[in-house]
Amino acid sequence: MDQRRQRLYRVEGIVLRHSDIGEADRLLTVFTVERGKLRLLAKGVRKILSRKAGHIEPFTYSTFLVAKGRTWDIITQADTIEAYRALRQDLLRTTYAYYVAELVDRFTEEDDASRPTFDLIRDTLSRLCGEDDPYLIVRFFEMRLLSLAGYQPQLFVCVRCRADLEPVTNYFSLADGGVLCPRCGEGIPQAEPLPVNTLKVLRFIQTREYDWVRRLNLKPELRAEVERLLYRYIVYVLERNLRSVDFLWKLRRQMEQAA
Ligand SMILES: [Zn+2]
Repeated sequence: MDQRRQRLYRVEGIVLRHSDIGEADRLLTVFTVERGKLRLLAKGVRKILSRKAGHIEPFTYSTFLVAKGRTWDIITQADTIEAYRALRQDLLRTTYAYYVAELVDRFTEEDDASRPTFDLIRDTLSRLCGEDDPYLIVRFFEMRLLSLAGYQPQLFVCVRCRADLEPVTNYFSLADGGVLCPRCGEGIPQAEPLPVNTLKVLRFIQTREYDWVRRLNLKPELRAEVERLLYRYIVYVLERNLRSVDFLWKLRRQMEQAA
């Protein structure tokens, strides 16, 4: 193999986000089949009539021919496999797609390949192009992504005493990563009551295939309750893992000690 060949590689992936660099370049975050999340530089794409531009828009599924670079590897060629055009024609679905892309970006590390994560992103975007209820599509996505990232909430046994959960009002603890039985959860400030129906829906989404989940018909209060709980859990998990938050706490401690 000649030298030039070795410096080129091909990946296929879905663009999660991009940011502008300099006059005409764009730095993309792409979740690839072969290598998981990568940051790739697209040079000159903001110049008018760039042939590459359409293939590297957010949520586009493309193949990329990439050249090794010093700071970032550089996209030399891109071709769309699936554009998910319907996502861009409806503001609600566009917004959901941004949310999906952001969560993937936050929950994954660079250069950590995961075929199930790739498949989940692809399936979720393609579902968002269809007629199904985006609420259910996204709840299913959140629950699967949490599991793939290693943060699957425990919904079947009490996270403290390991007893099977009874069909009564239990408690959910963000810090414990799951449900507490009434005996363990009562009186604990960070544990909030979890009604039976909410627990049932969460379990259903966690254990059933999408084909079952898409047929759920939930009352408005229950929808709101499930969404709120999952969202609070996701925010909790992400903040706990944010370097900026660690840094802030460290800084605050140092300031307290100095005072
Ligand atoms: Zn317990």
